[in-house]
Amino acid sequence: MTNATFPAGRLPRWMRDKFGGQGARLARQIFALLASGVIFGCAPAGDSSNATPTGDETSATLRIATTTLPLADWAQQVAGPGAKVTCILPSGANAHTFEPSPREMRTVAEASMLLRIGLHLDDWSDGLASANREIKSIAVGDLMRTNGLLPDVTSVTIAATSIEPDGIEATHDLDNEKDQSHDDDHDEVHDHDHDHGDDGTDPHFWLDPLLAREAVTLIAEQLALVHPEQAATFRANAEAYNARLRSLHEDIQTTLSTTARHDFATFHNAFAYYASRYGLQIAAVIEEYPGKEPGDRYLRGVVEKLRAAGIRSVFAEPQFSRRAAEIIAREIGGQVAMLDPHGTADAPPRDTYIGMMTFNTEAIAKALNE
Ligand SMILES: [Zn+2]
Repeated sequence: MTNATFPAGRLPRWMRDKFGGQGARLARQIFALLASGVIFGCAPAGDSSNATPTGDETSATLRIATTTLPLADWAQQVAGPGAKVTCILPSGANAHTFEPSPREMRTVAEASMLLRIGLHLDDWSDGLASANREIKSIAVGDLMRTNGLLPDVTSVTIAATSIEPDGIEATHDLDNEKDQSHDDDHDEVHDHDHDHGDDGTDPHFWLDPLLAREAVTLIAEQLALVHPEQAATFRANAEAYNARLRSLHEDIQTTLSTTARHDFATFHNAFAYYASRYGLQIAAVIEEYPGKEPGDRYLRGVVEKLRAAGIRSVFAEPQFSRRAAEIIAREIGGQVAMLDPHGTADAPPRDTYIGMMTFNTEAIAKALNE
Protein backbone atom coordinates (compact mmCIF):
# COMPACT_ATOMS: atom_id res chain seq x y z
CA MET A 1 0.00 0.00 0.00
CA THR A 2 1.37 3.41 -0.89
CA ASN A 3 0.25 6.88 -0.08
CA ALA A 4 -1.49 6.90 -3.44
CA THR A 5 -4.20 4.71 -1.94
CA PHE A 6 -5.07 7.37 0.62
CA PRO A 7 -7.34 10.31 0.00
CA ALA A 8 -5.61 13.61 -0.60
CA GLY A 9 -5.85 14.28 3.10
CA ARG A 10 -5.63 17.43 5.13
CA LEU A 11 -2.66 19.66 5.10
CA PRO A 12 -1.27 20.72 8.46
CA ARG A 13 -3.07 23.74 9.84
CA TRP A 14 -0.06 26.05 9.54
CA MET A 15 0.19 25.19 5.86
CA ARG A 16 -3.53 25.64 5.23
CA ASP A 17 -3.38 29.01 6.90
CA LYS A 18 -0.37 30.01 4.89
CA PHE A 19 -1.22 28.68 1.46
CA GLY A 20 -4.97 28.05 1.43
CA GLY A 21 -6.46 26.06 -1.44
CA GLN A 22 -3.29 25.77 -3.48
CA GLY A 23 -1.51 24.15 -0.58
CA ALA A 24 -1.06 20.65 -2.03
CA ARG A 25 1.30 21.68 -4.84
CA LEU A 26 3.17 24.07 -2.58
CA ALA A 27 3.42 21.39 0.08
CA ARG A 28 5.22 19.08 -2.34
CA GLN A 29 7.59 21.87 -3.32
CA ILE A 30 8.29 22.58 0.34
CA PHE A 31 8.89 18.89 0.94
CA ALA A 32 11.51 18.92 -1.80
CA LEU A 33 13.22 21.85 -0.10
CA LEU A 34 12.94 20.22 3.30
CA ALA A 35 14.42 16.99 1.98
CA SER A 36 17.33 18.87 0.39
CA GLY A 37 18.09 20.64 3.65
CA VAL A 38 17.61 24.09 2.11
CA ILE A 39 14.91 25.08 4.56
CA PHE A 40 16.19 25.30 8.16
CA GLY A 41 19.69 24.50 6.87
CA CYS A 42 19.58 21.11 8.53
CA ALA A 43 21.67 18.07 7.78
CA PRO A 44 19.93 14.77 8.49
CA ALA A 45 19.96 13.68 12.10
CA GLY A 46 23.04 11.64 12.88
CA ASP A 47 25.05 13.26 10.09
CA SER A 48 27.84 15.28 11.62
CA SER A 49 28.86 16.96 8.38
CA ASN A 50 27.30 20.18 7.17
CA ALA A 51 27.16 19.06 3.58
CA THR A 52 23.83 19.07 1.84
CA PRO A 53 22.73 15.44 1.82
CA THR A 54 22.52 13.66 -1.49
CA GLY A 55 20.22 10.86 -2.47
CA ASP A 56 23.04 8.38 -1.97
CA GLU A 57 23.70 9.53 1.58
CA THR A 58 20.07 9.44 2.64
CA SER A 59 19.56 5.99 1.18
CA ALA A 60 22.49 4.62 3.19
CA THR A 61 20.39 4.62 6.34
CA LEU A 62 16.87 3.23 6.46
CA ARG A 63 14.77 6.09 7.82
CA ILE A 64 11.27 5.44 9.15
CA ALA A 65 8.90 8.03 10.60
CA THR A 66 5.97 6.96 12.78
CA THR A 67 3.03 8.86 14.22
CA THR A 68 3.04 7.12 17.61
CA LEU A 69 5.51 5.67 20.08
CA PRO A 70 4.42 2.00 19.94
CA LEU A 71 4.81 2.08 16.16
CA ALA A 72 8.30 3.55 16.55
CA ASP A 73 9.32 0.80 18.95
CA TRP A 74 7.98 -1.93 16.67
CA ALA A 75 9.66 -0.40 13.62
CA GLN A 76 13.02 -0.23 15.40
CA GLN A 77 12.70 -3.82 16.57
CA VAL A 78 11.94 -5.03 13.04
CA ALA A 79 14.28 -2.80 11.06
CA GLY A 80 17.17 -3.30 13.48
CA PRO A 81 19.52 -0.96 15.31
CA GLY A 82 20.98 0.45 12.09
CA ALA A 83 17.68 2.05 11.10
CA LYS A 84 16.83 5.59 12.14
CA VAL A 85 13.26 5.55 13.47
CA THR A 86 11.61 8.79 14.54
CA CYS A 87 8.27 9.20 16.27
CA ILE A 88 6.95 12.52 14.98
CA LEU A 89 4.46 12.93 17.84
CA PRO A 90 6.29 14.93 20.54
CA SER A 91 6.41 13.40 24.02
CA GLY A 92 3.29 14.34 25.95
CA ALA A 93 1.30 15.42 22.89
CA ASN A 94 -2.21 14.09 22.30
CA ALA A 95 -2.12 11.54 19.47
CA HIS A 96 -5.78 12.20 18.66
CA THR A 97 -5.64 15.95 18.18
CA PHE A 98 -2.03 16.74 17.23
CA GLU A 99 -1.33 19.36 14.56
CA PRO A 100 2.01 18.79 12.80
CA SER A 101 4.44 21.67 12.39
CA PRO A 102 7.37 22.21 9.97
CA ARG A 103 9.54 20.13 12.33
CA GLU A 104 7.38 17.06 11.76
CA MET A 105 7.23 17.75 8.00
CA ARG A 106 11.02 17.72 7.85
CA THR A 107 11.19 14.39 9.67
CA VAL A 108 8.75 12.87 7.20
CA ALA A 109 10.57 14.46 4.25
CA GLU A 110 13.73 12.59 5.26
CA ALA A 111 12.03 9.21 5.74
CA SER A 112 11.35 6.52 3.17
CA MET A 113 8.46 5.06 5.14
CA LEU A 114 5.74 6.58 7.31
CA LEU A 115 3.98 4.22 9.70
CA ARG A 116 0.61 5.42 10.97
CA ILE A 117 -2.08 3.86 13.17
CA GLY A 118 -4.94 4.73 10.79
CA LEU A 119 -8.56 3.97 11.80
CA HIS A 120 -8.98 7.78 12.02
CA LEU A 121 -6.74 8.11 15.08
CA ASP A 122 -3.97 10.03 13.34
CA ASP A 123 -5.75 11.60 10.40
CA TRP A 124 -3.57 14.64 11.15
CA SER A 125 -0.78 12.80 9.31
CA ASP A 126 -2.76 12.57 6.04
CA GLY A 127 -1.19 15.78 4.78
CA LEU A 128 2.31 14.58 5.67
CA ALA A 129 1.76 11.38 3.71
CA SER A 130 0.15 12.91 0.65
CA ALA A 131 2.61 15.80 0.33
CA ASN A 132 5.68 13.56 0.10
CA ARG A 133 5.32 11.54 -3.11
CA GLU A 134 8.44 9.50 -2.41
CA ILE A 135 7.35 8.08 0.92
CA LYS A 136 5.67 4.74 1.47
CA SER A 137 2.83 5.42 3.88
CA ILE A 138 1.37 2.50 5.80
CA ALA A 139 -1.71 2.85 7.99
CA VAL A 140 -1.13 -0.30 10.04
CA GLY A 141 -4.60 -0.43 11.61
CA ASP A 142 -6.33 0.10 8.28
CA LEU A 143 -4.25 -2.66 6.72
CA MET A 144 -5.04 -5.00 9.61
CA ARG A 145 -8.73 -4.31 9.19
CA THR A 146 -8.51 -4.90 5.43
CA ASN A 147 -6.77 -8.21 6.14
CA GLY A 148 -9.47 -9.25 8.60
CA LEU A 149 -7.12 -9.14 11.58
CA LEU A 150 -9.08 -6.72 13.79
CA PRO A 151 -11.74 -8.35 15.98
CA ASP A 152 -15.02 -6.61 16.62
CA VAL A 153 -14.80 -5.12 20.11
CA THR A 154 -18.02 -3.14 20.00
CA SER A 155 -19.49 -5.72 22.39
CA VAL A 156 -17.12 -4.53 25.13
CA THR A 157 -19.69 -2.85 27.29
CA ILE A 158 -18.91 0.66 28.37
CA ALA A 159 -21.52 1.41 30.97
CA ALA A 160 -20.96 5.14 30.77
CA THR A 161 -22.12 5.29 27.16
CA SER A 162 -25.62 5.13 28.60
CA ILE A 163 -24.89 8.53 30.07
CA GLU A 164 -26.14 11.21 27.76
CA PRO A 165 -23.11 13.30 26.76
CA ASP A 166 -23.24 17.03 27.15
CA GLY A 167 -21.13 19.64 25.45
CA ILE A 168 -20.75 21.99 28.38
CA GLU A 169 -17.45 22.77 29.96
CA ALA A 170 -17.24 21.44 33.48
CA THR A 171 -17.64 23.94 36.28
CA HIS A 172 -15.94 21.35 38.50
CA ASP A 173 -18.54 21.67 41.23
CA LEU A 174 -20.59 18.54 41.27
CA ASP A 175 -22.20 19.51 44.56
CA ASN A 176 -24.09 22.11 42.61
CA GLU A 177 -27.13 20.12 41.55
CA LYS A 178 -28.83 22.77 39.48
CA ASP A 179 -30.05 21.60 36.10
CA GLN A 180 -27.48 21.89 33.34
CA SER A 181 -29.76 22.20 30.34
CA HIS A 182 -27.23 23.37 27.79
CA ASP A 183 -27.44 22.74 24.10
CA ASP A 184 -25.47 19.90 22.66
CA ASP A 185 -22.10 20.86 21.24
CA HIS A 186 -21.96 19.58 17.70
CA ASP A 187 -18.21 20.16 17.45
CA GLU A 188 -17.82 17.65 20.22
CA VAL A 189 -19.79 15.07 18.27
CA HIS A 190 -17.50 15.74 15.33
CA ASP A 191 -14.46 15.12 17.51
CA HIS A 192 -15.88 11.78 18.47
CA ASP A 193 -16.41 10.86 14.84
CA HIS A 194 -12.86 11.87 14.13
CA ASP A 195 -11.59 9.56 16.82
CA HIS A 196 -13.49 6.46 16.06
CA GLY A 197 -14.48 6.88 12.45
CA ASP A 198 -17.86 6.55 10.87
CA ASP A 199 -17.88 2.81 11.48
CA GLY A 200 -17.12 3.12 15.20
CA THR A 201 -13.82 1.22 14.94
CA ASP A 202 -11.68 1.58 18.05
CA PRO A 203 -8.19 2.59 16.85
CA HIS A 204 -6.31 1.36 19.98
CA PHE A 205 -5.63 -2.14 18.69
CA TRP A 206 -2.02 -2.05 19.95
CA LEU A 207 -3.21 -2.50 23.55
CA ASP A 208 -3.80 -6.18 22.72
CA PRO A 209 -0.32 -7.81 22.55
CA LEU A 210 -1.55 -10.54 20.23
CA LEU A 211 -2.78 -7.90 17.76
CA ALA A 212 0.58 -6.19 18.24
CA ARG A 213 2.22 -9.40 16.99
CA GLU A 214 0.12 -9.23 13.83
CA ALA A 215 1.12 -5.59 13.36
CA VAL A 216 4.82 -6.42 13.80
CA THR A 217 4.59 -9.17 11.19
CA LEU A 218 2.83 -6.77 8.85
CA ILE A 219 5.50 -4.10 9.32
CA ALA A 220 8.21 -6.65 8.51
CA GLU A 221 6.43 -7.59 5.28
CA GLN A 222 6.00 -3.95 4.27
CA LEU A 223 9.68 -3.23 4.94
CA ALA A 224 10.61 -6.32 2.93
CA LEU A 225 8.71 -4.92 -0.04
CA VAL A 226 10.79 -1.74 0.07
CA HIS A 227 14.12 -3.40 0.89
CA PRO A 228 13.88 -7.00 -0.38
CA GLU A 229 17.61 -7.51 0.14
CA GLN A 230 17.00 -7.27 3.91
CA ALA A 231 13.75 -9.24 3.97
CA ALA A 232 15.23 -12.20 5.84
CA THR A 233 16.62 -9.90 8.53
CA PHE A 234 13.31 -8.09 8.97
CA ARG A 235 11.42 -11.38 9.29
CA ALA A 236 13.92 -12.81 11.76
CA ASN A 237 13.78 -9.63 13.86
CA ALA A 238 9.97 -9.70 13.83
CA GLU A 239 9.93 -13.33 14.89
CA ALA A 240 12.29 -12.69 17.79
CA TYR A 241 10.31 -9.67 18.99
CA ASN A 242 7.01 -11.51 18.57
CA ALA A 243 8.33 -14.19 20.92
CA ARG A 244 8.77 -11.44 23.53
CA LEU A 245 5.22 -10.22 22.84
CA ARG A 246 3.93 -13.76 23.38
CA SER A 247 5.67 -13.75 26.78
CA LEU A 248 4.21 -10.33 27.52
CA HIS A 249 0.72 -11.66 26.77
CA GLU A 250 1.25 -14.66 29.05
CA ASP A 251 2.57 -12.43 31.83
CA ILE A 252 -0.50 -10.19 31.55
CA GLN A 253 -2.78 -13.23 31.63
CA THR A 254 -1.05 -14.44 34.79
CA THR A 255 -1.23 -11.03 36.47
CA LEU A 256 -4.93 -10.60 35.71
CA SER A 257 -5.99 -14.19 36.41
CA THR A 258 -6.42 -13.76 40.17
CA THR A 259 -7.87 -10.24 40.49
CA ALA A 260 -10.80 -9.66 42.80
CA ARG A 261 -12.92 -7.85 40.23
CA HIS A 262 -13.08 -7.57 36.45
CA ASP A 263 -14.24 -4.05 35.74
CA PHE A 264 -12.36 -0.78 35.74
CA ALA A 265 -12.81 2.78 34.56
CA THR A 266 -10.49 4.34 32.01
CA PHE A 267 -9.74 7.95 31.24
CA HIS A 268 -10.33 7.92 27.50
CA ASN A 269 -11.91 5.17 25.49
CA ALA A 270 -8.77 3.20 24.66
CA PHE A 271 -8.95 -0.21 26.31
CA ALA A 272 -11.65 -2.13 24.43
CA TYR A 273 -9.14 -4.51 22.76
CA TYR A 274 -7.30 -4.99 26.02
CA ALA A 275 -10.53 -5.65 27.93
CA SER A 276 -11.76 -8.01 25.25
CA ARG A 277 -8.53 -10.02 25.24
CA TYR A 278 -8.38 -10.41 29.03
CA GLY A 279 -12.06 -10.80 29.88
CA LEU A 280 -12.50 -7.42 31.53
CA GLN A 281 -15.27 -4.85 31.37
CA ILE A 282 -14.95 -1.10 31.05
CA ALA A 283 -17.20 0.32 33.77
CA ALA A 284 -16.94 3.91 32.62
CA VAL A 285 -14.90 6.27 30.48
CA ILE A 286 -14.14 9.63 32.06
CA GLU A 287 -13.37 11.61 28.93
CA GLU A 288 -15.61 10.37 26.18
CA TYR A 289 -13.98 12.60 23.56
CA PRO A 290 -10.18 12.58 23.78
CA GLY A 291 -8.78 15.97 24.63
CA LYS A 292 -12.06 17.61 25.59
CA GLU A 293 -13.08 17.83 29.20
CA PRO A 294 -16.46 16.28 29.97
CA GLY A 295 -19.39 18.36 31.18
CA ASP A 296 -20.90 18.23 34.64
CA ARG A 297 -23.85 16.04 33.67
CA TYR A 298 -21.59 13.42 32.12
CA LEU A 299 -19.24 13.50 35.11
CA ARG A 300 -22.16 13.03 37.49
CA GLY A 301 -23.20 9.99 35.46
CA VAL A 302 -19.71 8.53 35.71
CA VAL A 303 -19.68 9.11 39.49
CA GLU A 304 -22.99 7.27 39.81
CA LYS A 305 -21.70 4.35 37.76
CA LEU A 306 -18.52 4.06 39.80
CA ARG A 307 -20.34 4.32 43.11
CA ALA A 308 -22.81 1.63 42.03
CA ALA A 309 -19.96 -0.64 40.93
CA GLY A 310 -17.91 0.03 44.06
CA ILE A 311 -14.92 1.17 42.02
CA ARG A 312 -12.43 3.28 43.95
CA SER A 313 -9.63 3.93 41.49
CA VAL A 314 -9.88 6.56 38.79
CA PHE A 315 -7.28 6.77 36.06
CA ALA A 316 -5.69 9.86 34.59
CA GLU A 317 -3.37 9.81 31.57
CA PRO A 318 -0.17 11.81 31.03
CA GLN A 319 -1.37 13.31 27.73
CA PHE A 320 -4.60 14.68 29.20
CA SER A 321 -5.68 17.04 31.97
CA ARG A 322 -6.04 15.36 35.37
CA ARG A 323 -8.85 17.61 36.53
CA ALA A 324 -11.81 15.43 35.58
CA ALA A 325 -10.20 12.38 37.21
CA GLU A 326 -9.48 14.34 40.37
CA ILE A 327 -13.06 15.60 40.58
CA ILE A 328 -14.44 12.08 40.24
CA ALA A 329 -11.95 10.64 42.73
CA ARG A 330 -13.01 13.24 45.28
CA GLU A 331 -16.68 12.46 44.70
CA ILE A 332 -16.29 8.71 45.15
CA GLY A 333 -13.74 8.99 47.94
CA GLY A 334 -11.21 7.17 45.81
CA GLN A 335 -7.82 7.87 44.34
CA VAL A 336 -6.27 8.88 41.03
CA ALA A 337 -3.89 6.39 39.44
CA MET A 338 -2.33 6.54 35.99
CA LEU A 339 -2.67 4.63 32.76
CA ASP A 340 -0.59 5.42 29.68
CA PRO A 341 -2.13 3.76 26.61
CA HIS A 342 -0.10 5.82 24.13
CA GLY A 343 3.33 5.65 25.81
CA THR A 344 5.69 8.47 26.79
CA ALA A 345 9.14 8.79 25.23
CA ASP A 346 10.92 10.39 28.19
CA ALA A 347 9.31 8.37 30.98
CA PRO A 348 10.77 4.86 31.28
CA PRO A 349 9.47 2.16 31.39
CA ARG A 350 6.65 3.69 29.35
CA ASP A 351 9.07 4.58 26.55
CA THR A 352 8.87 1.04 25.13
CA TYR A 353 5.81 -0.91 24.09
CA ILE A 354 6.48 -3.80 26.46
CA GLY A 355 7.33 -1.44 29.33
CA MET A 356 4.17 0.55 28.72
CA MET A 357 1.99 -2.57 28.63
CA THR A 358 3.56 -3.90 31.82
CA PHE A 359 3.08 -0.55 33.55
CA ASN A 360 -0.59 -0.39 32.51
CA THR A 361 -1.26 -3.98 33.53
CA GLU A 362 0.21 -3.44 36.99
CA ALA A 363 -1.93 -0.32 37.44
CA ILE A 364 -5.08 -2.10 36.25
CA ALA A 365 -4.38 -5.16 38.41
CA LYS A 366 -3.95 -2.94 41.46
CA ALA A 367 -7.33 -1.30 40.78
CA LEU A 368 -8.96 -4.70 40.22
CA ASN A 369 -7.73 -5.90 43.59
CA GLU A 370 -9.09 -3.01 45.64
ZN1 LIG B 1 -6.19 7.23 22.45
